[in-house]
Amino acid sequence: MDLLLATGNKHKQVEFQAILNEHRILTPADIGAPFDCEETGSSFCENSLLKASILFTTTGRPVIADDSGLCVDSLNGAPGIHSARYGEKNDQSLSAQGKYTLLLHNLEGAANRKAAFVCSLVLYIDNYRYFIFQETCRGVITKAPQGTGGFGYDPVFFIPETGKTMAELSEEEKNRLSHRGKAGAALRAFLKAYGENLGVV
Ligand code: IMP
Repeated sequence: MDLLLATGNKHKQVEFQAILNEHRILTPADIGAPFDCEETGSSFCENSLLKASILFTTTGRPVIADDSGLCVDSLNGAPGIHSARYGEKNDQSLSAQGKYTLLLHNLEGAANRKAAFVCSLVLYIDNYRYFIFQETCRGVITKAPQGTGGFGYDPVFFIPETGKTMAELSEEEKNRLSHRGKAGAALRAFLKAYGENLGVV
């Protein structure tokens, strides 16, 4: 099935394509559809629904959308839904390296470095029918970046059971363990079991 993913983030498209490998993941850019969404929700779930409903309105097609971020326990869940905009001043955003460097700075001296990546993924059939899958990946924020894979905060997110940061995992390992991988696996199982009832497969 073709799934239209409400994002402009190429990394997310690549990850979802690997996770949902029996489906074809298209972005608005792939079909020439405009997509711009101001993330005004107060939770990951509200933001994923917002992105999905905007793209559904412009295309009239079933879509998937995710909203994700990093929640650090000792920062009361920050940067959370603001992960992509962490440290932004006067609309000037930081690079990924700038964001995780700021995070390391804000955690200097913190004894508790536990954190969770969160992914809220919605399958949006129409304005009255949608299905939400929200998952996490728990880990610990390192004191210095390690690894070059992945994107965003991956170099500073250490997963104890692997002995590696997210940026040191292979793509296959990240897709199996990550918040996005787990939410995507739930959607994949749902589509397998229930897809025919949706009337769009
Ligand atoms: P979104 O596009 O609003 O969902 O932004 C999510 C932001 O959270 C990204 O720009 C990254 O900064 C961060 N993030 C989400 N998922 C990941 C991940 O898998 N690795 C690293 N950073 C992530």
